[in-house]
Amino acid sequence: MKTPFITKEALAKITAEFPTPFHLYDEKGIRETARAVNAAFAWNPGFKEYFAVKATPNPTILKILQEEGCGVDCATDVELMMSHKLGFKDISFTSNDTKAAEFVYAREIDAMINLDAYEHIAFLEEVAGLPQTVSLRYNPGGVFSLGTDIMDHPEESKFGMTHDQLIQGYKDLKVKGVKSFGLHAFLASNTVTNDYYPTLAAQLFNLAVEIKEKTGVSLDFINLSGGVGIDYSPANKQNDIAVIGEGVHQEFDKILVPNGLGHIKIFTELGRFMLAPHGHLVTKVLHLKDTYRHYVGVDASAVNLLRPAMYDAYHHITNISNPDGNIETVDVTGSLCENNDKFAKNRELPEARVGDTLIIHDTGAHGFSMGYNYNGRLRSAEILYQEDGGARMIRRAEKPEDYFATLYGFDFEK
Ligand SMILES: *Cc1c(COP(=O)(O)O)cnc(C)c1O
Repeated sequence: MKTPFITKEALAKITAEFPTPFHLYDEKGIRETARAVNAAFAWNPGFKEYFAVKATPNPTILKILQEEGCGVDCATDVELMMSHKLGFKDISFTSNDTKAAEFVYAREIDAMINLDAYEHIAFLEEVAGLPQTVSLRYNPGGVFSLGTDIMDHPEESKFGMTHDQLIQGYKDLKVKGVKSFGLHAFLASNTVTNDYYPTLAAQLFNLAVEIKEKTGVSLDFINLSGGVGIDYSPANKQNDIAVIGEGVHQEFDKILVPNGLGHIKIFTELGRFMLAPHGHLVTKVLHLKDTYRHYVGVDASAVNLLRPAMYDAYHHITNISNPDGNIETVDVTGSLCENNDKFAKNRELPEARVGDTLIIHDTGAHGFSMGYNYNGRLRSAEILYQEDGGARMIRRAEKPEDYFATLYGFDFEK
């Protein structure tokens, strides 16, 4: 069962103050998850979670994670700017198809660079010079499976470099005077199994041993990246991060320690696992419509949460105003002129009435951040539900002026 992180009464206070739709974040839950991740890897003295900024790029959220000891992983110069401005010391830069100016800026603020391509070694050296520390992103090709379950298809992924490029890369970097080395891989997305990280770790740990044998490079850190997911379904069978951390620990002791690599630091770049469950998209019912299906039209749309339209992703919905209403089978829709603007299709929900407040669950990561402005729809506010029970706006909703701000030859004010 999935239940909201906020009571009906507490939410009613917030909706009385702030108009819907908005993304609501649960500070308490965010802190608890960050602490659980840090505890799960406390066996590794150098462990650090570099939160994937793209999941929830809001400074207030990033500050909470910073207070919990996390660093940040950025993919673009704008994400780097935000992280640097927030005073993060531990910033990694995992980009691809990177602009020269972005490497220059990453070097300027001393972000730890994780190279996506073998070809980027020469490019980085040419445009910004090589730093003391360089990490390389690995793509083993083929399929990534756990037992008989195919989890993902690295061979179709644009990210990372091949095994041979990786070995050659460390050799090149060593000759060019790089002193400290990392290894990174992201091989499956949104996994709901305690075996993903340990299986990935074993693969990377064996590779670290091979790298040492073939190149003389003794890695300083291994970055397991993101990919530990959440169960969006009502079954709510979540990963157990303590079990995952212990699984990685066992592989570490089995593979790295006996090979003289027990100093290696473990890094992660979790986004979804850290934040997704701690966000709700709060929306109100505007209209009911009956044709060939029953439609519940809400004031949020795909611009506020793209995942259902883009991936046909399931997001659980709670009618917090009428939880015990008669069950009806409905489509929950936004207002975009696109028929994929549906938060739910043929979903059984308690009767929705005009004015009811609906909670769309698990929108804390890759929710607001994937937003866009189709149909002139504007991005919503973001609200923090504080640990002390209060709520405050941490991003205002866009206004028409924001939408018009970048146009030439059009002055909205006149
Ligand atoms: C997107 C991304 C992440 C975070 O992925 P999640 O699925 O949110 O955990 C981490 N690292 C890199 C390089 C990414 O692109």
